[in-house]
Amino acid sequence: MLRPLNLSVRWPMDKGESILYRTHQSWKLTIAAGGILISAALMYVAVLRINDFPTKEYLGVAGGLVSLLSFVFPLAAIRCPKCGSHWLWLAATQRQLTWYRWLLSQSACPKCRTSPSTAAT
Ligand SMILES: [Zn+2]
Repeated sequence: MLRPLNLSVRWPMDKGESILYRTHQSWKLTIAAGGILISAALMYVAVLRINDFPTKEYLGVAGGLVSLLSFVFPLAAIRCPKCGSHWLWLAATQRQLTWYRWLLSQSACPKCRTSPSTAAT
């Protein structure tokens, strides 16, 4: 009989130990997720107004720009306060599908091994 996995199995590490949370940078991922939702809403409204020139073009371009910024901003902004390495980029280029789990499992900078408690923020 199969039992559901509990949270300790799915999340091998407490979020509070992650460099992402200890350096108070998780809000950057939240902003990115919000931007993606706003982008989707803008694109949806553009499709609804498909016969409304030039509104649909403006909405489509705005949605595309918001979407692009939602990906570029966290890639550039989530970084080590000590050495400046881009942690989200490192997570995204890992040979794993679970980039978020990899990012949360890091308790020190993967490049310079500085613990956030000793890094100047
Ligand atoms: Zn570092």
